[in-house]
Amino acid sequence: MEKINHILFPFYRFENLSACRGILHFVSTAAGNIGYPDGEPSDRMLVARRRLAVAVGFRPEALCLGQQVHSDHIVEVKRQDAGRGAMDRESRFPETDALVTKETGVCLMVLAADCVPILLCDPVKKVVAAVHAGWKGTLAGIVEKTATVMQDRFNCCAADIRAGIGPSIGKCCFEVGPEVAVLFQQKWKSFPGILGPVNSLGKCHIDLWEINRRQLLAVGIREEYIEVAGLCTKCHSEEFFSYRRSGNDAGRFGAGIMLLGDNEGE
Ligand SMILES: [Zn+2]
Repeated sequence: MEKINHILFPFYRFENLSACRGILHFVSTAAGNIGYPDGEPSDRMLVARRRLAVAVGFRPEALCLGQQVHSDHIVEVKRQDAGRGAMDRESRFPETDALVTKETGVCLMVLAADCVPILLCDPVKKVVAAVHAGWKGTLAGIVEKTATVMQDRFNCCAADIRAGIGPSIGKCCFEVGPEVAVLFQQKWKSFPGILGPVNSLGKCHIDLWEINRRQLLAVGIREEYIEVAGLCTKCHSEEFFSYRRSGNDAGRFGAGIMLLGDNEGE
């Protein structure tokens, strides 16, 4: 990823997605909390979202969010859905953790603070997706299901799809107890490096980036088209929000992607 030090709101971009024409994308930073700190949108959060939108270059009313519940529920977003969850909570897509669209003018965004935000783009068929994959979503295979929806419903070719796996809790800091470790062991034990050694308390470290990368490879996405940010949110909490570092006080950063119309953007 490269950092754009915009004076209004510094943000990051994936190099592989920046190379795609006709799309705009970002990963926001801890320069502003764009989530719902006390369960309700605050004026400060709305100001932060507007600043981010200006910095990146989209209208804040174009934002579209789901009510993230660690599910594997994916929705197809239409242009008229722009604005859902942009400035309120009620209008978000209920119980949704991945958004896909082939329409311009709607900026799909997922929020995170340790969970894995993933952006997908097919620059050939012009289809984009934003995915929220915490450990439950990762276990449920939400990113491979989203890439499959892109292929089945939108006719995307897997070999054309680019993916950016965003800043999130790294294997360095993601330690789980035995009850969670066993769920990953059942599925991923034979893949070297994904699970760390199990300690005397039955805890182990898990590499969510690598699991999501392998899910994308499994559905046919090319290795060279997958960019892993490789930034742990807990280790880089000055740059991104981290639930594991800050607990309930943690803010949220966002990862967003949008198809541009013919007369929009750079
Ligand atoms: Zn770390």
